[in-house]
Amino acid sequence: MTSFELSEEHRELREWVHGFAADVVRPAAAEWDEREETPWPILQEAAKIELYNFETLASFWGDETGLSMPLVNEELFWGDGGIGMAIFGTTLAVAGIFASGTPEQMVEFIPQCYGDAAAPKVGAFCSSEPEAGSDVSAMRTRAVYDEARDEWTLSGQKAWATNGGIANIHVVQAVVDPELGSKGQAAFVVPPGTPGLESTRKIKKMGLRASHTADVFLDDVKLPGSCLLGGKEKLDERLGRARDGVQGKGSAAMQTFEMSRPTVGAQAIGIARAAYEYALEYAKDRVAFGRPIIENQSISFMLADMRTEIDAARLLVHRAAWMGRNSVPFTAGEGSMSKLKAGRVAVWSTERAIQILGGAGYSREHPVERMHRDAKIYDIFEGTEQIQQLVIARAISGMHLT
Ligand SMILES: Cc1cc2nc3c(=O)[nH]c(=O)nc-3n(C[C@H](O)[C@H](O)[C@H](O)COP(=O)(O)OP(=O)(O)OC[C@H]3O[C@@H](n4cnc5c(N)ncnc54)[C@H](O)[C@@H]3O)c2cc1C
Repeated sequence: MTSFELSEEHRELREWVHGFAADVVRPAAAEWDEREETPWPILQEAAKIELYNFETLASFWGDETGLSMPLVNEELFWGDGGIGMAIFGTTLAVAGIFASGTPEQMVEFIPQCYGDAAAPKVGAFCSSEPEAGSDVSAMRTRAVYDEARDEWTLSGQKAWATNGGIANIHVVQAVVDPELGSKGQAAFVVPPGTPGLESTRKIKKMGLRASHTADVFLDDVKLPGSCLLGGKEKLDERLGRARDGVQGKGSAAMQTFEMSRPTVGAQAIGIARAAYEYALEYAKDRVAFGRPIIENQSISFMLADMRTEIDAARLLVHRAAWMGRNSVPFTAGEGSMSKLKAGRVAVWSTERAIQILGGAGYSREHPVERMHRDAKIYDIFEGTEQIQQLVIARAISGMHLT
């Protein structure tokens, strides 16, 4: 039987995360946004209740409906986008290890991304470079193999890495065969304390300011063969197929993004919903011309449109999450579709929330300006708006559009 109702288990999960978001995250949001620092005490709280650890993440991933990840992300980011990303930024590194690593590599490296409740750690996924953001094939960071030593040497510069430089584990994408473009890339784990990895510049951002974003430099970073995710044999097989022109599953970075797009869309929906709920309550309370402003259709209809758009975006996200989890092919770019719509809805709804609050919306006394600053990133990272459109256009046309 088809049903759009959440199961009891899902409702309980949502309530659990909502409680944490309402009691711990939301009250701390303005402070950490102003401080522009990773909120380590809140990560610790999340680790204490076992929201921040791999076992819990694995249980979300294990959910056959695919809905646990979007439900959890929506609630956490409803609490706050910046703190949400400080807690969930590690997931991208973990997804990178999970997508390409051997079982031994998963057991060794994934727990190191989290640390424990006494001393939580974070992970970073480093794909983007100053000259290679949307165009992943322009990546220049090189990994060169020394067969005699079974050792890789990595050199290059990564840009925009969430948790870059403060992470215990960095997952780094690098070019192993420049002639193969994005198919000639591989993913490496850089363990803690490895010489040659440095981060000297933290980026000051418009939003998501409680999440650390930084450049990462790799200067002759030496890694044992065991740090190549998936191992050398598998890499050689994949490169051999690419040289023979056989279609593969795409680069490791692309696989990581494909897995994470509906989840990222759910984060955007969490921010959009927070702004919508705040604006709704404000509109009922605020009196102008002798009556609550919600009694003007121009305000109530704006709220009606916000709610409609948010619900529509959520349905796209849940569909894509279910498809992804059940290996249903994204024949129309449904993963990208969900993220595209959710990002746009978040930017639009948070802007409308500012409009509904008037001058109050433009001040830092109310959270909607922060929500708007946080929302904009969802048009940019994990594939920009235009890149999502490109993925969808390619899927629906069957043509290699550029
Ligand atoms: C806060 C934050 C956190 C991030 N975290 C990470 C991270 O953890 N790891 C990581 O690897 N990266 C991360 N990124 C990088 C992010 O993924 C890139 O910024 C994004 O992919 C866009 O790349 P770019 O900034 O180089 O923009 P560009 O690729 O230079 O794009 C600039 C503009 O051109 C458009 N454009 C480009 N190509 C086309 C085309 N073919 N058709 C139409 N339009 C096009 C884009 O849509 C965009 O509007 C993060 C970025 C930010 C801001």
